[in-house]
Amino acid sequence: MEKYDYLIVGSGLFGSTFAHQATAKGRRCLVIDKRSHTGGNIYCEDISGINVHKYGAHIFHTNSKEVWEFVNGLVDFNRYTNCPIANYNGKLFNLPFNMNTYHQMWGVRTPLEAQSKIDEQRAEVLAMLDGHTPSNLEEQALSLVGRDIYRCLIKEYTEKQWGRKCTDLPAFIIKRLPVRMVYDNNYFNDRYQGIPIGGYNRLTEALLKGVDVHTDTDFFLSPYHEWRNFAQRLVYTGPLDQYFDYSLGRLDWRTVYFRTRVVDTPNFQGNAVVNYTSCQQPYTRIIEHKHFETFGNDVYKNPQTVVSEEYSTEYKPGMEQYYPVNDDKNNSMAEQYRAMAASEPDVIFGGRLAQYRYYDMAPVIEEVLKMSIP
Ligand code: FAD
Ligand code: UDP
Repeated sequence: MEKYDYLIVGSGLFGSTFAHQATAKGRRCLVIDKRSHTGGNIYCEDISGINVHKYGAHIFHTNSKEVWEFVNGLVDFNRYTNCPIANYNGKLFNLPFNMNTYHQMWGVRTPLEAQSKIDEQRAEVLAMLDGHTPSNLEEQALSLVGRDIYRCLIKEYTEKQWGRKCTDLPAFIIKRLPVRMVYDNNYFNDRYQGIPIGGYNRLTEALLKGVDVHTDTDFFLSPYHEWRNFAQRLVYTGPLDQYFDYSLGRLDWRTVYFRTRVVDTPNFQGNAVVNYTSCQQPYTRIIEHKHFETFGNDVYKNPQTVVSEEYSTEYKPGMEQYYPVNDDKNNSMAEQYRAMAASEPDVIFGGRLAQYRYYDMAPVIEEVLKMSIP
């Protein structure tokens, strides 16, 4: 039987990038995936001529020149810049919190006026905290932006998204949201940002060029489970706990699901991302996919559009595993599994499922680029 240097379980960004790099070094790789397609969560489905982000909106952004040059060496990227809009009971605000938001909220025009309004709004909670660091998300948000923004743009959205009260959530979740005193609606601070022209599948195809791939093949339910019969080494990007047959218990996940529909109008909401920050709507946001790849009046060239309502919910077996749960129970179980993984000879555990860590796309690529591949 033909033997590979690497059997790679999972054709997501980690598995595909690893396969690309190993192949470039002359290693022979076989990639398997239990899904019927490659690409993992960056996969796009063509509906009505529009690339639909099937597993949630994906915007590529990075500060790393090396990563940006690597992906642009494979596919060209467009100029998409993420500028989400928030809809609070019909009133619209720009995100992230910046001078446009403060103007829409309070009518202020200068950074000085905005700062004095924010300071007035924060005074109450800062007095209550009396120098102590915020102990939960509510205190953190109130001390960052004050009560009006917290009430209209944070509280109900966050409680929908996490299914828990803001007072029961850790402060760090909100810390990464930019708060700016300039008129700038770009959601990310990174130097490079965009979407592959023609969609993410082009990136996956370029990464997997010349690599043997079997889809519809579950590692645990196929002969490949006895991987030493097929390859010298294993790259595993599936769930960490499953590899060890859940011997320490199951790790929890937070998940989202999507209601996707075709609408007979060329331009449904005028923007790729609209967050619904009130609890009046059960979904957290609506994605209109064509705006990731068509700009200006080009959106009218296709008379239809595709929109996805995004709902946040508790994970149950059988659902997609999206966000690791950062609580003490899961963190300590994951640590124990990671220790077991570290003592597995010839197995590389990579990516968000096998490391039980939330990773954006660029850091996944960066990690593979830094690896020395034997
Ligand atoms: P995955 O893409 O999950 O790939 C793992 C693959 O392994 C899957 O294809 C799966 O089918 C396969 N697999 C699992 N078990 C088995 C098995 N037993 N046998 C065979 N195959 C198996 N990042 C950004 O940079 N920008 C964004 O805007 C962004 N938005 C996101 C939105 C959502 C809703 C989510 C969940 C993530 C988002 N990300 C974003 C993160 C991005 O999706 C990840 O960085 C990336 O998908 C990680 O790739 P991966 O290979 O680790 O995992
Ligand atoms: N958030 C919010 N209102 C918004 C968008 C985000 O309150 O309109 C909060 C929410 O708590 C969320 C956190 O900011 O969990 C981080 O949001 P981000 O968009 O960075 O993360 P994502 O939703 O993509 O995981």
